[in-house]
Amino acid sequence: MPIHEKNLVDKDRLLVKEEAKLDGLDVSGQWSTFIEQRILGDYSTDVLDAVASTPAGKTIVNCWQCGTCTAGCCMHTDFGLREFNPRYFIYLAQKGAEDELKKYAPVIWRCVTCNKCVERCPKGVRVEEVVHSIEGYMRSKGWMGDTPASRWDEAFVKNTLQTGVLDELALTRSYVSREKLAEFNNRFMLRMALKLVRTGRIRTGPLRHRVKGWEKVRDVAKEILEGGGEG
Ligand code: SF4
Ligand code: SF4
Repeated sequence: MPIHEKNLVDKDRLLVKEEAKLDGLDVSGQWSTFIEQRILGDYSTDVLDAVASTPAGKTIVNCWQCGTCTAGCCMHTDFGLREFNPRYFIYLAQKGAEDELKKYAPVIWRCVTCNKCVERCPKGVRVEEVVHSIEGYMRSKGWMGDTPASRWDEAFVKNTLQTGVLDELALTRSYVSREKLAEFNNRFMLRMALKLVRTGRIRTGPLRHRVKGWEKVRDVAKEILEGGGEG
């Protein structure tokens, strides 16, 4: 039985030119023939080059599209967001399919950085970082605006830059009020926060931890951040 698409078989190089059937089964041996070279004329490496040139995205070139990352991705499986498919994002970036990739602007930011994909990838692709790098490319093209995740990142960086140590309570307060997340203002969350403060697990306000000599580091960090992220 031929295993190649017939239109791809180079007929001049067929080992057996006549169709040969044995008990109704095609045994012409087309499986051992050459297939014609295919050249994709509209192929663009723009996305791949951009992603692979970032420290976060450089392992994209190792992906062989096995799908293991997507099969274990909590966003794709546990949360049932089928459109969130890291293997497919990588495929589109590798192929330079910008029009198709654009369609995923509403979901690509939903990665929760659990890193299951990174642990499972047999080819050493830093999938989580690659997905964020693809997202960075999409953002740089103006295909996506602010998202809850980018606003969280912004609030996180702003908070951490103050003393070099995160003030979790201040961050949560500011983010929750900005996003109007009613579910965070419940008793369970308040009780948990109080416990954490009482046991010294977190320190907030004037009592928050600070890194000695942080001002110098902060200036350097700000300069790097203002110079643009790696995407
Ligand atoms: S698990 Fe790794 S090699 Fe397989 S599709 Fe995902 S990134 Fe590619
Ligand atoms: S890090 Fe992101 S892409 Fe990877 S498994 Fe978790 S949610 Fe999915």
